[in-house]
Amino acid sequence: MHSLDEYLRDAAQAHGHLCAGQVLGVRLAMLGLTKLGIDVPRSKDRKRLVTFVEIDRCATDAVALVTGCGLGKRALTFRDWGKMAATFVDLATGKAIRIAAKESSKQLARQMHPELKSKNQQQMLAYRKMSNDDLFTTQWVKVDLPPEEFPGYRGERIVCELCGEGINFRREVRREGQILCRSCVGEKYYEAV
Ligand SMILES: [Zn+2]
Ligand SMILES: [Zn+2]
Repeated sequence: MHSLDEYLRDAAQAHGHLCAGQVLGVRLAMLGLTKLGIDVPRSKDRKRLVTFVEIDRCATDAVALVTGCGLGKRALTFRDWGKMAATFVDLATGKAIRIAAKESSKQLARQMHPELKSKNQQQMLAYRKMSNDDLFTTQWVKVDLPPEEFPGYRGERIVCELCGEGINFRREVRREGQILCRSCVGEKYYEAV
């Protein structure tokens, strides 16, 4: 694993700026990897890790950077819960740990740096130095991952009977004897114009 400073430098570059979310995300991911005993997530241990993130803000980019887990590799799964939290699953051992940022860390950052006006500045500095215990709660958990949730899993592809678009393994919906995609059953996030 790299040092906090190295990760922050890379995170700032990848994300476009350094912010409190980046610091929090980097530290959260580093703690997760340390707890699991995963040393080099980007090379030797590359296929060992699946990460669930519960927020799609700045910290998510930082978690992806440190863990090497990306959406494109199916190693990063997004749960839209709006929480600054992530769960790291070690596929080699089956162990998993969920780490969440404490709300109280914001107050603590204000106390540590009353001289700074901007919250982001306060937190950016404070989150670098704060202890893991002040920043996070951790919990060992169990995550059931069916084979198709593993990175690199190749399942069959099926075609929607209504729109004809291909759908990857188990994302289809079976309704009244028809095989349909999520869009055709009405779960659309877009409308044709
Ligand atoms: Zn940011
Ligand atoms: Zn369809």
